[in-house]
Amino acid sequence: MKQPIYIFGPCAAESEEQVMAVGRAIAGCTTQNAECTMHNAQCTMQHAECTVIFRAGLWKPRTSPDTFQGVGEQGLAWLQRVQHELGMPVATEVATPEQTRLAIEAGIDYLWIGARTSANPIAVGEIVEAIRRPLPAPSLKGKGVLHTKGLFIKNPVNEDTALWIGNIKRLQQTGLPVYAIHRGCGHHPCWHMPYELRQAMPDLPILLDPSHMSGDAAQVPTLCHQAAELGLDGLMVEVHPCPEQALSDSKQQISPDGLAALPKQNAALLKQNAALPKPDELVWLRAMMDEVDDRLWDTIRQRMDISRQIGIWKRQHGVEVLQPQRFEQIRQRRLAQARQTDISDETVNTILDAIHKESVRKQS
Ligand code: PEP
Ligand code: MN
Repeated sequence: MKQPIYIFGPCAAESEEQVMAVGRAIAGCTTQNAECTMHNAQCTMQHAECTVIFRAGLWKPRTSPDTFQGVGEQGLAWLQRVQHELGMPVATEVATPEQTRLAIEAGIDYLWIGARTSANPIAVGEIVEAIRRPLPAPSLKGKGVLHTKGLFIKNPVNEDTALWIGNIKRLQQTGLPVYAIHRGCGHHPCWHMPYELRQAMPDLPILLDPSHMSGDAAQVPTLCHQAAELGLDGLMVEVHPCPEQALSDSKQQISPDGLAALPKQNAALLKQNAALPKPDELVWLRAMMDEVDDRLWDTIRQRMDISRQIGIWKRQHGVEVLQPQRFEQIRQRRLAQARQTDISDETVNTILDAIHKESVRKQS
């Protein structure tokens, strides 16, 4: 088992005070502190056994230009304070060669490539070039040596595992250690992506980002538990001193108290997991199947919503709810489709009859 990696910190650095407040809360949870829930006998996040990295985004890839875009370069000094005063390595997201250069020169320990940049091989190539470029001579700002210890890359938003693998290979050209972070697509877990990645690159550490995967702080503990069950190699979790006031991703960030409770909830499993070989294939297959069922149920719900709208139209236009001809067309189309995938006519008929019955009920 590789040493687990835990990355904790706010979605975005908002102010020096906010960065230091959450930094202290995280450091307090990971250092020798009798009060600390993360450093008792149960704890799997002890210093000797894992790496804890502080995260904060400075340049935020937001959907709308009207929202908080990050504090930019000025936040580098705040991350340096976390390094020097709290003794924690720090990480930030880079999306351009300029941001990469600034972060490297400021001595940021780890860089991560976000899900949007990860979908763009040209951008990743340019970041790789920026990392390989010689640093300027030592100056007040720059150290003159590459201090960066490693690179993280999230899965691309467009659900393309081959592109993720391609960009991981690009990052490996820097010679720095590379780690993958799985954050799902939209709010779907997309478990098939880390599954395929693990098959293609069995030795590559894969972390889980439950915050972006769910977009919901309440789901973070369950997903951390699932990461342990799947034998993943660590977590990236967004933590904010006051999540409801966060300038970005306020619904998904957990509080320092929530963070302190995490290892308690997961300790037994993580501990047991560390001693076991990689989880059985069945655990992965079941995670992927549950996700397909979630999507299937959501699809059925969407179909019923449309059905209800059709019912309103029929009522307004004096049309009968039951249209046997139309249902026969639907049946024939799905039978033809199913025959190509070895699903029996009987199964198609059973499923369609059940859906149609519910549809008619919705319209009546
Ligand atoms: C983030 O980690 O704050 C972030 C923007 O994540 P992602 O690239 O996964 O959306
Ligand atoms: Mn975020």
